[in-house]
Amino acid sequence: LHRNPGESEFHQAVHEVFQSLGAVADRHPELVDTGVIERLCEPERQIIFRVPWVDDSGKVQINRAFRVEYNSALGPYKGGLRFHPTVYLGIVKFLGFEQIFKNALTGMPIGGGKGGSDFDPKGKSDNEIMRFCQSFMTEMYRHLGEHTDVPAGDIGVGGREVGYMFGQYKRITNRYEAGVLTGKGLDYGGSMVRTEATGFGLVYFVREMLASRGLDLRGKTVSVSGSGNVAIHAALKAQELGATVVAASDSQGYVYDSAGLDIDLLTEIKFQRGERISVYADERTTATYHAAGNVWTLPVDIALPCATQNELDEESAKNLVSNGLVAVAEGANMPCTPGAIKVFNEAGILFGPGKAANAGGVATSALEMQQNASRDSWSFKRTDAKLDEIMTGIHEACARAAADFGSPGDYVTGANIAGFQRVARAMVAQGVV
Ligand code: NDP
Repeated sequence: LHRNPGESEFHQAVHEVFQSLGAVADRHPELVDTGVIERLCEPERQIIFRVPWVDDSGKVQINRAFRVEYNSALGPYKGGLRFHPTVYLGIVKFLGFEQIFKNALTGMPIGGGKGGSDFDPKGKSDNEIMRFCQSFMTEMYRHLGEHTDVPAGDIGVGGREVGYMFGQYKRITNRYEAGVLTGKGLDYGGSMVRTEATGFGLVYFVREMLASRGLDLRGKTVSVSGSGNVAIHAALKAQELGATVVAASDSQGYVYDSAGLDIDLLTEIKFQRGERISVYADERTTATYHAAGNVWTLPVDIALPCATQNELDEESAKNLVSNGLVAVAEGANMPCTPGAIKVFNEAGILFGPGKAANAGGVATSALEMQQNASRDSWSFKRTDAKLDEIMTGIHEACARAAADFGSPGDYVTGANIAGFQRVARAMVAQGVV
């Protein structure tokens, strides 16, 4: 704690993983003796830099940016960039730490990293976004490379931003290095399904959790929080598999639609028109908008928090449980507080932690890197089938590790142990570096 003062999200993430590892340490003392735990508390490299840019009125703006290159035991650092005013070192370190184990769970050759800036894209013009991305990359490029560090998107960073950053990287380095960023446009090295992957993968994971208890998605009611990339694609896949998604939100309020969300309309409002979610209720007679409260007050079978960290607290968890909840899976990173997770555990609710349940995005990024390396491009069907296979594999790995270490059905323990073991074995094999 004293080495990382004030980084509360980082402390929370480290504590959550390490409290699962007692049984592994007892069975595999060699992992502890070689300082793996201590090394995992310290990122391999942390980069903090200034991003100067000029806004449309000609005024100079300064933002702060970060890249935490956390662990490269399994491959190049891999993890998204977040542009949001709340970004500071503690957020980037928590995300980078989680990313190590998530990436290990995918079984792909990718290490863990994360980055971002306190830049707020809301209300900025397209030209301002471009100038910011170019300035960001003018410093960041020297740390990147397809064998070194490969960023992607996260909150506030989508295809447009990745495109601007890729263009600037190419210009500075004079190299068409497609594998240096993932989440690229389909015309220049992007992968089919990457946009949908986190949300789709989340629902494939939920399908497997439900199947472990002889249940499925048909006829279930679902709420998602957020209405960004992860939330909308999770809602779409859940409806495809027979569930009814009754609610979604943004940072100002939520909509409830008794007939089930019209995903096409929501997608148009959020992605094409860039409007607030309240507009959805104006255009749909079965829907109501609520500026206060959150989606967790609604009775549903399945809750999918897909917005941001610590958005579902103990009180919301109690509410969901008393309303008959069956399963929760984290589309966002660490959206449930420790108190909420305790409530779900005690009530016997199926709980899929983010590092397992939302790993579909980064797994598909690794598939994008594979396609770039072989100068190939796969069909939607082939890539989606591969994503499904990976998510099913992650579910199996978590379930197996949980049972093997005495906590059957506990996906938190299973994900932490399975992810940790792969990284730790590689770290031990590579010596104290
Ligand atoms: P987006 O920027 O596309 O969407 C974020 C959504 O969350 C927006 O609708 C935003 O609303 C909403 N939101 C933010 N804060 C709150 C809040 N306090 N309450 C309710 N809604 C809120 O981001 P993504 O969908 O890409 O990412 C969402 C989460 O998923 C993040 O935790 C991210 O780390 C995680 N994730 C993303 C992956 C990806 O592939 N994109 C991969 C794995 C995890 P508003 O517009 O009002 O801000």
